[in-house]
Amino acid sequence: MNPPNWFDVASWGWMALAVLIAVLLLFVDAPYGRHGRRGWGPEIQARLGWLIMESVSPLVLLGLFAISLRPAEPLSWIFAGLWLLHYGHRAWIFPFRLHSKGRRMPVVVMGMAMCFNAVNASLNGLRLFVWGPVHDASWLTDPRLGIGLALFAAGLVVNLHSDTILIGLRRGAESGYQVPRGGLFCWVSCPNYLGEILEWCGWALATWSLAGLSFAVWTVANLAPRALAHHRWYKQQFSDYPAERRALIPFVL
Ligand code: NDP
Repeated sequence: MNPPNWFDVASWGWMALAVLIAVLLLFVDAPYGRHGRRGWGPEIQARLGWLIMESVSPLVLLGLFAISLRPAEPLSWIFAGLWLLHYGHRAWIFPFRLHSKGRRMPVVVMGMAMCFNAVNASLNGLRLFVWGPVHDASWLTDPRLGIGLALFAAGLVVNLHSDTILIGLRRGAESGYQVPRGGLFCWVSCPNYLGEILEWCGWALATWSLAGLSFAVWTVANLAPRALAHHRWYKQQFSDYPAERRALIPFVL
């Protein structure tokens, strides 16, 4: 069954909003983590914030998968499995790996992330499971699926490995920031963001859907400005920060 017309309009509108937000984020750093600052209202403990806001995504997508009236095809299982692999970790493991004692985030940031996750998971879940199938069985041998899945896997490894390096910098008594080294940090300041972007670009290619594309665009919109802000911040904080390191894309940006 094809999705109704409003669905494509909503997906394009959602993407257009991402472009506007990206421009805004070039001027206003999202106020959490190192860019946290006063004036953004009530705050919540950072670990709890991550747990609540990121749980929305797997719960919504799995809910749509569960209530889908169609018998699930192999591709649906693959896509639901990949989403759960990423978001199961992000929502229910990652918050407990953080050394976030005493760190807080504004409730408004958590709320915005919950909306972001709810819309992305709804668009992708509806398209893939409720109004699908997007593709017939021949998609299983289509190079776009293979390349997309490979990109997703590579991005996941880069994201997990880079976040692990960052989390390791606070092991023991450390509570501040250090210059991260190892892995793709030799080339860029934010390989965790690069990995996340690769993942969702791979997802967009593998699902070959407007919903998947809109999520990839949103991920770039959120993370590219933040990578530039992190990079600027590192150079201000550490006079010996490696000069050859770029913000997000090796040798380019
Ligand atoms: P950051 O890289 O800012 O931070 C990750 C963790 O490492 C935080 O706990 C942070 O502490 C700590 N950390 C970072 N740099 C250092 C350092 N130099 N020294 C010591 N500790 C450090 O990532 P985010 O918190 O922005 O994002 C976390 C994950 O969520 C990432 O994998 C990202 O890709 C993903 N994400 C995805 C989005 C999307 O649109 N799909 C949007 C936002 C995030 P602290 O928080 O105290 O700074």
